[in-house]
Amino acid sequence: MAYAIPAPPTAVIPVLGGAPFPVRRIYCVGRNYAAHAREMGHDPDREEPFFFMKPTDAIVGNGAEIPYPPMTSDLHHEIELVVALARGGSDIPVESALDCVFGYAVGLDMTRRDLQGAAKKLGRPWDFGKGFDNAAPCAAITPAAKTGHPGAWAIWLEVNGKLRQKSDLSKLIWNIPETIAYLSRYMTLAPGDIIFSGTPEGVAAVGRGDRLLGHVDGLEDLEVSYV
Ligand code: MN
Repeated sequence: MAYAIPAPPTAVIPVLGGAPFPVRRIYCVGRNYAAHAREMGHDPDREEPFFFMKPTDAIVGNGAEIPYPPMTSDLHHEIELVVALARGGSDIPVESALDCVFGYAVGLDMTRRDLQGAAKKLGRPWDFGKGFDNAAPCAAITPAAKTGHPGAWAIWLEVNGKLRQKSDLSKLIWNIPETIAYLSRYMTLAPGDIIFSGTPEGVAAVGRGDRLLGHVDGLEDLEVSYV
């Protein structure tokens, strides 16, 4: 196929022990841990899940030295489990939702919190707060065939060797199959879609020179730094 301009590259995430995973769409769950919902000033008990998206070219890989992004003075880390889909569909039942999963990875939903906060106040979209360049650091995917599906896996983030966020995946308000099923009622999911599943409490600012180390049990750690 000849195009009018050179075709943009397909975003990919490395896979441990296999060929890279091509990314079609990036979905992110908003508030999905009760303690984080509370720290952001919300009541977790009455909320349906909600979603936003990031562009696929926001993905950066393990070991990246990431330029501190422009137009913010309050860049925040959000450590998250990332779910990568090998199959999709619409109206996927909760009972079979895990059959869609290819594997799991450790990701960071980086957030320009000041821009997100201003957008919330004005009822405007979150894109500039969430969907900017390099906003989706992601370590390699471990296939579910190797790791199984999440139980009470620990999830934590250290910044410069100090613990900032710590929880476990049993504390997700909407677990992985429920999240896939819910999302598939609104959007047709497809192979290559990934889902950032939400962050636990402890989100805070990141500055130039900071080194971030993210962990989820059973998966490759994610390490990036800001310059
Ligand atoms: Mn998030």
